Amino acid sequence: MAAQILDGRALAKEIRAEIAAEVAAFKEKYGVTPTIAVVRAGEDPASVSYANAIKKTFEKREMGFQLHVLPETASQDEMVELVRRLSADPNVHGIIIQEPLPKGMDEAAVKEALAPDKDVDGVHPVNAGRLAQVAPVGRPPGVLDYFVPATPLGGLEILKRYGIEISGKRAVVVGRSNIVGKPMALLLLRENATVTICHSRTRDLAAVCREADILCAAVGRARLITADMVKPGAVVIDFGVNFVDGKMVGDVDFEAVKEVAGAITPVPGGTGPMTNAMLLKNVLEAAKRQVGG
Ligand code: NDP
Repeated sequence: MAAQILDGRALAKEIRAEIAAEVAAFKEKYGVTPTIAVVRAGEDPASVSYANAIKKTFEKREMGFQLHVLPETASQDEMVELVRRLSADPNVHGIIIQEPLPKGMDEAAVKEALAPDKDVDGVHPVNAGRLAQVAPVGRPPGVLDYFVPATPLGGLEILKRYGIEISGKRAVVVGRSNIVGKPMALLLLRENATVTICHSRTRDLAAVCREADILCAAVGRARLITADMVKPGAVVIDFGVNFVDGKMVGDVDFEAVKEVAGAITPVPGGTGPMTNAMLLKNVLEAAKRQVGG
């Protein structure tokens, strides 16, 4: 039987409408517009296009958008100074630093210049550390003092809004980046799944993937996950964004896997639209924490 399609586009629309209503109420109460600042150096085409998408998403919900672009030749000190200035600016509630940073710039130093309470993409070590320390290891559950990167947060939201049980399930995450794979694995662990993280040195990836009740792919290799790697009935979350012959495809061979899986996110229309919705949510949340509410 063909899998249930987990429609991220429809969910994101629903969430954006919820957020727009909350933003209107917040503005009415506090007279403050939740605002994001996007920072980059240079004109990397993917970064330019992502910044444009963020602008459109934010302006449509009457949230604030600022773009700060340094030249490709900017020094690390200039970048750090810009991020510090925005971190101290009370009119900015969330900051995103776009990558790639110019060669020679120390990514860690730039991220550490962010105020953790404005780090709406969850890249500052304080936010990443708090996610890693979440209960039962350390921090109490439900405490809203950290931000999680928008993409994995969107993946989790898809599972939750579709009522997919996570607790006690075997989850496999393919990919261990700080922005997608690792935080997704930590979120699933937080939800009491038994989690395995795979990467480029994993041996017999297919066998590990076949153990998954929930299989997440965050690799960046078109159609790496084939039908024989998926347990019948598994839930498959595809974060991949790849282009083959001008067509956007995920890390999962969607057409074949949908015949085996129990539920699956399409690409496009799955995790992608959820990322922007979660960014709106994080910026509103940041404004609430900074201003009150
Ligand atoms: P990275 O390149 O930072 O990480 C890729 C990960 O995949 C690494 O951990 C790497 O392992 C692992 N990997 C590479 N090849 C293999 C392989 N053959 N087998 C198993 N693991 C492998 O990518 P990102 O995490 O930034 O992005 C992942 C994907 O998600 C990309 O397609 C990206 O475009 C997409 N993305 C989607 C977003 C959305 O909104 N849906 C937002 C952000 C990203 P190792 O660590 O050993 O190198």
